[in-house]
Amino acid sequence: MTTATASLSSPDTVELFKKYVIGNYNRYPVNLVRGEGSLVWDAEGNRYLDFFPGWGCNLLGHCPPHVVQAVQEQVATLIHVPNTWHMDVQGQWAQMLSERSFGGQAFFCNSGAEANEAAIKLARLHGQGKYKIITFTGGFHGRTLGALTATAQPKYHEGLGPLVAGFLYAPYGDLGAATKLVDDETCAILVEPIQGEGGVQIPPAGFLAGLRKLCDKHGLLLMFDEVQTGCGRTGHWFAYQKFGVEPDVMTLAKALCGGIAGGALLARPDVGKSLRPGMHAATFGGNPIAARAGIATLEVIEREGLLEQAKLLGERFAKKFKGLQAECDLIREVRVAGVMIGIELAVDGAAVVKDCLSRKLLVNCTHGNVIRLLPAMNLTEEQADEGCEILADVIRTLPRG
Ligand SMILES: *Cc1c(COP(=O)(O)O)cnc(C)c1O
Repeated sequence: MTTATASLSSPDTVELFKKYVIGNYNRYPVNLVRGEGSLVWDAEGNRYLDFFPGWGCNLLGHCPPHVVQAVQEQVATLIHVPNTWHMDVQGQWAQMLSERSFGGQAFFCNSGAEANEAAIKLARLHGQGKYKIITFTGGFHGRTLGALTATAQPKYHEGLGPLVAGFLYAPYGDLGAATKLVDDETCAILVEPIQGEGGVQIPPAGFLAGLRKLCDKHGLLLMFDEVQTGCGRTGHWFAYQKFGVEPDVMTLAKALCGGIAGGALLARPDVGKSLRPGMHAATFGGNPIAARAGIATLEVIEREGLLEQAKLLGERFAKKFKGLQAECDLIREVRVAGVMIGIELAVDGAAVVKDCLSRKLLVNCTHGNVIRLLPAMNLTEEQADEGCEILADVIRTLPRG
């Protein structure tokens, strides 16, 4: 038996994974060992500029000091107690989220998929027999069976049927199609106010407001999956505020706890009461460590004016890549909402990610041809410019398919 030691080389780490870790992810052959802000280092001492820290979870960058301190304090005080008790920090966290959104009540869990499962169950319970939920093509709601069925992308369903009954899909942005799917058994509409995995798709004007009207007319719950867009990503606390359309239910995870695992569902109080004792639970949900990290994350964003900073950074990225689009026909469209940035290419984006990695810039490609950047809100302007230069250079010199 061996025990964990100081960091292994990248190749040795890859060997460990080959033997002992299930290969369900495509991983770069790099062992990352340390992070600070928007920089991260591998075992060989290479430094990377991270435009995709933690797949969107590290909205304040790596190891944000105020979050680190809060977690360190909490872990030495009370690590975990079950939800059969009250915990002041969970209550305070819920209050902070509620006051920054639509005055709802919280249910806490540990991930985005779990938050959406809670939303699906809540919608059915609230529906009292109505069970159908409308979702949208290109969406992403997580990998558990319910959340996966809500995810209308066939590639994620392969080999897993039969899926959960009662989900209907409309094309994203198509209000007419969604309207046609509503019947007497529909209880809710679940939608990302901006699609993330689907390629940073910003809905057409009036779409979300139209869904709100549709829900009001038929007594459906409007549920926004803000797992990726929430907590300041778009320059607003929550993306729904950008569009001025309020949901009845909202799900959060990813950046919620500044890099610590955590998820939440917020619901209007009259809706949330449908989750009665015994109907739903998450053992680790809202644990003191996640709560302290969640509170600290909100505090940093507020204290450092990062919502405004995210907007400014977004404008900087938009200017840069719209400028590049004017001179480079490989860029089809640039879609930006705060520090949520999609650059749609006319060609496959895998080579861009690979070339950026070799130049020590971490970016993501989603939906085949959309370069997705989810940089930290506290990325410096110098870091933004440094990374944009590299990415622009890589795109400019792409071989033409
Ligand atoms: C990432 C994501 C999820 C799933 O979150 P997990 O924490 O991986 O379960 C759900 N919805 C959206 C919009 C996401 O971006």
